[in-house]
Amino acid sequence: MQDESELTGATARRRPKPDVLEIGGRKLKPATLMMGHGYDPALSEGSLKAPIFLTSTFVFENAAAGKRHFEGVTGKRPGGAEGLVYSRFNGPNQEILEDRLGVWEDAEDALTFSSGMSAIATLLLTFVQPGDVIVHSGPLYAATETLIGRILGRFGVQWLDFPAGATREEIEAVMDRAKSLGRVSLIYLESPANPTNVLVDVQAVAAARDTLFAEQRPPIAIDNTFLGPLWSKPLEHGADLSVYSLTKYAGGHSDLVAGGVVGAKALITPIRMMRNTIGTITDPNTAWMLLRSLETLELRMSRAGENAARVCGFFQGHPKVESVGYLGFLESGSDARQADIYRRHCSGAGSTFSLYLRGGEREAFAFLDALKIAKLAVSLGGTETLASAPAAMTHLSVPDERRKALGISDNLVRISIGVEDADDLIADFEQALRAI
Ligand SMILES: *Cc1c(COP(=O)(O)O)cnc(C)c1O
Repeated sequence: MQDESELTGATARRRPKPDVLEIGGRKLKPATLMMGHGYDPALSEGSLKAPIFLTSTFVFENAAAGKRHFEGVTGKRPGGAEGLVYSRFNGPNQEILEDRLGVWEDAEDALTFSSGMSAIATLLLTFVQPGDVIVHSGPLYAATETLIGRILGRFGVQWLDFPAGATREEIEAVMDRAKSLGRVSLIYLESPANPTNVLVDVQAVAAARDTLFAEQRPPIAIDNTFLGPLWSKPLEHGADLSVYSLTKYAGGHSDLVAGGVVGAKALITPIRMMRNTIGTITDPNTAWMLLRSLETLELRMSRAGENAARVCGFFQGHPKVESVGYLGFLESGSDARQADIYRRHCSGAGSTFSLYLRGGEREAFAFLDALKIAKLAVSLGGTETLASAPAAMTHLSVPDERRKALGISDNLVRISIGVEDADDLIADFEQALRAI
């Protein structure tokens, strides 16, 4: 592709030459590639870091190059634009970011978006048509449920769901029913589910899909925001597309909003076409910030994960704590099925968990109001520790009965652990529990 564009003079080729991906047959790890992959300083005055390309459009070398680029943009030629065209389609910062984001899951291709929700919306618009059926795991992120149920519902799209922990037989039964309702065009998962932390068996979903859909297999997309890209790599377990709110762990500093989709090229290409049309690409500033963030992704997530293990160890068995919903306790717990999924699908327990206090809303609020280090805010995956009460905040709009079924009780506190000193955090939680 680069050779061809050399012939016709494509605009602003920024691919590093050569891009070092291995040394002596040793494939370089993501943590190493985050410092340079996809960027050549020689193309930007030797600047060590990629400049932020604040431009709405790119100058073509000649008319033939412009035509070729538009053939890529409009899908006349597969693979997308070969050069830089117009900032609603692509840009250097976004392309470098996409190259690096894909590395973590060894994905063929990647796209970035203006938010996690715009990534999800663009994905849904790409694959789903009126009359189609979406099969999904439940619960989903509230805005995703709204998008599928209420907004796509207006266009005659139906959905059926199975609970996140469902067995292969249960998943197959739901898929079978969905087939009788219409064309199943997408299987959409979220694991672990928020705020219950229940894991989806992606391998079982893929096996069920392959059994029930011999031809025209609906793609499996999964929201991997909570454990990805470090602790969970669902493409390895049969998912076709891995979806991210990059606002969370990938961004990691609670200072930006962005989204991503990584996976098979054949599926990414039509999503890119949709993104080109509706303009849900991430902006250059945010893309640049994410390049900064990805350099420390492994460091940040590892530290946060270690901190969470320490903090959850402190909470467990505390007299004012009823229970702790933390993936790290699955292996020693009583739910053999969830423990089995965890062993097969996860390489770490994450740093976001559910704390059930003894009591109700009064106790939860007293705890939250007494915190001195942890901040009272929704969101997760940042360097700072956050705590919130889902029943009164993120899930306030969920009907009472459904809330009960999902275990979103008034005594639930949701905590995302950051990279602070673990003993300081424990001291803070200890004094907050005393204040109840
Ligand atoms: C935050 C979040 C989203 C939405 O992402 P935005 O970047 O806020 O649009 C989607 N899924 C999950 C699991 C999330 O946590």
